[in-house]
Amino acid sequence: MAVRLGLVLLVLPAAVALHLNAQGATAARDYRAEALRILKTVPLVDGHNDIPDAIRSRGGPDSVDFSATQLGLMTDIPKLRAGMVGAQFWAAYVPTTTMHGGEHPAVYALEQVGLVRRLCARYPRDLAMAYTADDVERNFRARKISCLIGIEGGHAIESSLGALRMFYALGVRYMTLTHWETTDWADAATDSAKHGGLTAFGEQVVREMNRLGMLVDISHVSDNTMLDALRVSTAPVIFSHSSARSISNHVRNVPDSILKLVPANGGVVMVNFNPGFVSEAVRVYEDSAQARSNTLRAAGADSAALADSAKAWAKRAPHATLQQVADHIEHIRDMAGIDHVGLGSDFDGITSVPDGLENTSKFPDLVAELLRRGWKADDVKKLVGLNALRVMRDAAKAARRLQSASVAQPY
Ligand SMILES: [Zn+2]
Repeated sequence: MAVRLGLVLLVLPAAVALHLNAQGATAARDYRAEALRILKTVPLVDGHNDIPDAIRSRGGPDSVDFSATQLGLMTDIPKLRAGMVGAQFWAAYVPTTTMHGGEHPAVYALEQVGLVRRLCARYPRDLAMAYTADDVERNFRARKISCLIGIEGGHAIESSLGALRMFYALGVRYMTLTHWETTDWADAATDSAKHGGLTAFGEQVVREMNRLGMLVDISHVSDNTMLDALRVSTAPVIFSHSSARSISNHVRNVPDSILKLVPANGGVVMVNFNPGFVSEAVRVYEDSAQARSNTLRAAGADSAALADSAKAWAKRAPHATLQQVADHIEHIRDMAGIDHVGLGSDFDGITSVPDGLENTSKFPDLVAELLRRGWKADDVKKLVGLNALRVMRDAAKAARRLQSASVAQPY
């Protein structure tokens, strides 16, 4: 018996390894091919990408060759093509007053919108502006990547509904109600709460966005702002780049109690790839790194010492993985339903990436992972694009309904 058992123990691990290797290699190849086939049939719509500000900081669209592979960037046309991206919401990110001096947020937002439009116009063989779901589908059939614009940070409108209306006219199709800081009319997730959610004017902003057909984006906002927006909005809302809080306990993520409210609203939660939002281990580690740097700063450390410390911490940091991103997708599907989950990578807004999802060329690998987990093609299509397109269509429908009732508007 002892001899026989010994033999089995000797033989078994090798046999299992061989079997797994052979099966793993074949399966991976097939799933990726299947992912590419699916992505040929439906436009992949990514909810959030920060390349506009990255290009701005490199001197603008005239200084960066977006048609060539850019080593320092997660996004360029060759990578978008390899990743089979069909439509991208480009973030017109606007700094807040305490971040990078944001004294003229409306002007900054105008410049960002202009930058996206110029970038898109510069590469007409690959990129085309889109304002509606029909535009996205038409561009997709013409093998062009749709450029959609979302303003990141409601402070961009400087509390003017007139400015909001003009941003819509310039092609903006979503606005994230806050960025990192609480605004005059909405609380942010990462700042102190001043209003308990939306103020009365904040509710008016949401209603006007509904009337215009601009999607209300409740990534970045506090839980109370999420709840207020879900209560006030008569059109589907989006979370353009947020993941599940029950997996990584970050305030930027969406708690289960709110995920469960999304189906009644009809909106979509687009999963963020930021390692600190994806992996609880990374989040905890980043918190300790931040605490360490705060201690050093309090002790009078100079910027070189702070940078050295940050580098040393970064070297030892745990990693998030593509599989963990898939876990978030499946969790949101389980909480909100398959019709309410999407993708919002945050590429070029994040400073580190999950293993396996390093840049915009990697989307097919994520789809392959879901297929490996048993996802059906129809569900994959909803996740990658159909849910986002449905939300865009439903918001446009709601706007037409609201516009038929006239509203007094002073300016
Ligand atoms: Zn963001």
